[in-house]
Amino acid sequence: MSAAFGIKKMRVETRESPVHGTGVFAAERIPRGEVVLSIDDSRIVDDEHPMQEALGEKPDHCDYLPDGTTVLMATPEHYINHSCDPNVFAYSVCKRRFAISLRDIAAEEEILWDYSIGAVGGDVWTCRCGASNCRGLHKCDFFALPEQRQLEYLPFLDPWFAQLHEPRILDLLRRRAEPLAAGEVRQGP
Ligand SMILES: [Zn+2]
Repeated sequence: MSAAFGIKKMRVETRESPVHGTGVFAAERIPRGEVVLSIDDSRIVDDEHPMQEALGEKPDHCDYLPDGTTVLMATPEHYINHSCDPNVFAYSVCKRRFAISLRDIAAEEEILWDYSIGAVGGDVWTCRCGASNCRGLHKCDFFALPEQRQLEYLPFLDPWFAQLHEPRILDLLRRRAEPLAAGEVRQGP
């Protein structure tokens, strides 16, 4: 499709969030597997283009791309809060990133992603997202998640991230496959 893949401009809106500060909310019902918004990664932060805190740019709004690039997230995506029970994930096509719904999202529902998906070695903080499966101590690192959660999140990993961390992901799959293989041997004739 042309015109930014036919993405509707205003599928989301920002307002006060019960989770934290300002949040992003669905302005309409968004079915599973659709583009919620296109992520604008055009504002690169580096030595030549430093953060301008006098203009309201904040380190909190930076995102760290798999290739090591630091970007300042644009509005509205920098207002997307974390949840241990997310409803969107980031997906890249040729380094263009999109937020995709991982389940049906009702109109007025807050848009939430799990900051651990697609991150390594990030911040640690006490999570108060309110999800029934909240992990409590949040580590912004995919590989620090419980293994079962890593497996559940595999379909939602950004291909860009998955490719960069292929050895660790293959290790995860190998570890999970070995007990099965051993079980099959034990149950054999
Ligand atoms: Zn949580």
